Amino acid sequence: MQAVSPKWLSDLNPAQREAVTCGDGPLLVVAGAGTGKTLTLVSRVAYLVSQGVPPDRILLLTFTRRAADEMLRRAASLVSGEPSLAKRVWGGTFHATANRLLRIYARQAGLSPDFTILDRSDAEDFLNVVRNDLSFSSRDRRFPQKATCLAIYSRRVNGAGSLEDVVKRDFPWCLTWQEELKQLFREYVLRKQRQGLLDYDDLLLYWYHLVQDESVARDIGSRFDHILVDEYQDTNPVQAGILRGMRRQNNNLTAVGDDAQSIYSFRSASVRNMLDFPAEFPGARIVTLEQNYRSLQPVLDTTNRVIARARERYSKELWSERKGGQRPQLITCAGESEQDETVIRNVLQHREQGIALRKQAVLFRTASHSDSLELALSSRNIPFHKYGGLRFLEMAHIKDLIGFLRVMENPHDQVAWFRVLQLLSGVGPVTAAAAFEHMRLSGGDPSSLAGFAAPAAAVDDIRGLADLVRDLKGMESDGPSGQIERIERFYLPVMERVYENPAPRANDIKHLGELARKYGSRRQFLDELVLDPPLSTGDLAGPPYKDEDWLVLSTIHSAKGLEWDVVYLIHAADGNLPSDMATGSEQEIEEELRLAYVAMTRARDFLYVLWPLRYYHKSAGISDNHSYAQCSRFFTSEVTATMDCVVAGDGRGGADVPGASAPLRLNISDRIREMWE
Ligand code: ATP
Ligand code: MG
Repeated sequence: MQAVSPKWLSDLNPAQREAVTCGDGPLLVVAGAGTGKTLTLVSRVAYLVSQGVPPDRILLLTFTRRAADEMLRRAASLVSGEPSLAKRVWGGTFHATANRLLRIYARQAGLSPDFTILDRSDAEDFLNVVRNDLSFSSRDRRFPQKATCLAIYSRRVNGAGSLEDVVKRDFPWCLTWQEELKQLFREYVLRKQRQGLLDYDDLLLYWYHLVQDESVARDIGSRFDHILVDEYQDTNPVQAGILRGMRRQNNNLTAVGDDAQSIYSFRSASVRNMLDFPAEFPGARIVTLEQNYRSLQPVLDTTNRVIARARERYSKELWSERKGGQRPQLITCAGESEQDETVIRNVLQHREQGIALRKQAVLFRTASHSDSLELALSSRNIPFHKYGGLRFLEMAHIKDLIGFLRVMENPHDQVAWFRVLQLLSGVGPVTAAAAFEHMRLSGGDPSSLAGFAAPAAAVDDIRGLADLVRDLKGMESDGPSGQIERIERFYLPVMERVYENPAPRANDIKHLGELARKYGSRRQFLDELVLDPPLSTGDLAGPPYKDEDWLVLSTIHSAKGLEWDVVYLIHAADGNLPSDMATGSEQEIEEELRLAYVAMTRARDFLYVLWPLRYYHKSAGISDNHSYAQCSRFFTSEVTATMDCVVAGDGRGGADVPGASAPLRLNISDRIREMWE
């Protein structure tokens, strides 16, 4: 046992200190944004270790792995003499932890230990295959799309009620398909189980069911003296059930959260988890925090009013000792390009004042909202990293390459085999199915592909693939980057035949190979890719140089828990925030309001909210199709009374508002022509 460093503990406020040094038992910290919940968890990990709890008997559950890494790095810096703390504590997301535990307890869970994890788009594709096989796609009336099917399935299994409840409440237009949906999900589950595939939801479900068994639960639970959970407001009922199961023997559980920031109900997260905590974990101590350490008071004056409109809310008004500073600005822009220019001008001005680009962030509701800003930044050579938008793993050529690794890891993985086989010349669904069946009958050995009687048009490519499989088999004990190099030799010519623009694609594959170098085993690499996909363009590059600097662009969802000196919230217009995809019900609007709140509470010193009056419709392609927007309904007169409302441009004040002498170009001639088309 080591004496606690008085400095970091005495720097905390009394309520934080109470939570950090609280004895055994359940503990819930309910508090608003920026009140130090995450810091409290970090300090509690450090405190527990300093009190002699072995780091590897602590489990820290966070929303992203990046968050866990950062928190453990900070915890390690607080405790001297424990340099290995960050490596030894079990830290990560629920899904990653589920994966780690299920590999250990595969036998008890009735799983083959070499199961493969399907990411969301794989799961959709797989569901789609089942949907086609059951001939649901060819009905007279249109059966729900694969993404809708997966969303219904996911809500159902994550504890959002019976199938009927879920469909009635969230997907009422699918009510007539209930029987078929049930049949589809039954078959989907069966096939996943046969092929050793787990989707994201399965990871949680298997963990959940594992700890429903008392003896297994005792065994798994006893690995951890303490479990700590950040962002508890975004956990769902299955996750709550997992925690209950994990805490049968000892009830040391610390959870922190803010009901006003719950933004994941589409993943069945429920604020109820937080409200029910005291009932689920009897004897729970509850600590509340009210002082905000992040933001200047003028920023809080605005954000307090934004969230005051929320109906269900438990946290109190926040206050800060950080006085002074400017009021947040609400900036009306004529159009998107003016919004881009205004952001860029302010970013550069703040940089002149000494605020590095990395301390500034542009936030938006939907990944595509930054398209035009990205172009503008590139044309000015202003470096940026975007979070939450890059679908690296969803690019076809990356999926292809990963497909080769997946079939080697799990030869029963039909989705991956079909993907790989259909890349070959002369191979369509029928030949792919025959080849897969041939391997299945040979005991699922990929090497048996060499003996498959391929149709003449496919013979050469099938032979090439069989050679590749043979070589990869011989490289099993090598790391994944060598295997990727071998796959590249086979795949690059295929890619040139199948896709346009092979050069940038080849570059992406090179990146993937570089990423793979960090991993000792193929399994580990595949798991990490699926569970913790690269989130930003920056994640693909190597570690940054010290003097490197870039502006952060992020969706609001990916900005959770983070903070910047300057925050720009763009596209704050009705239809974009709240998103018109989510204006169905009052609950959905409430969640959009909390999203706006999460975005604005990321700001430490400066907050700018921008909205373009004129908005071009992206779906229409390159056209002049636009509409006039309204400022987001969340900026009521009570809210704007705390802000400086300005019009972008050269200070002409209102000149760009329609009706004034605005330089708008209406496409009237087009419209008149269109009447006769
Ligand atoms: P969010 O709800 O956004 O996740 P949070 O409650 O987790 O916020 P933190 O991120 O832990 O808040 O803290 C916000 C900021 O306040 C951080 O910069 C943190 O270092 C600082 N902070 C928290 N508590 C204190 C304190 N007692 N003294 C000084 N700074 C503090
Ligand atoms: Mg936090």
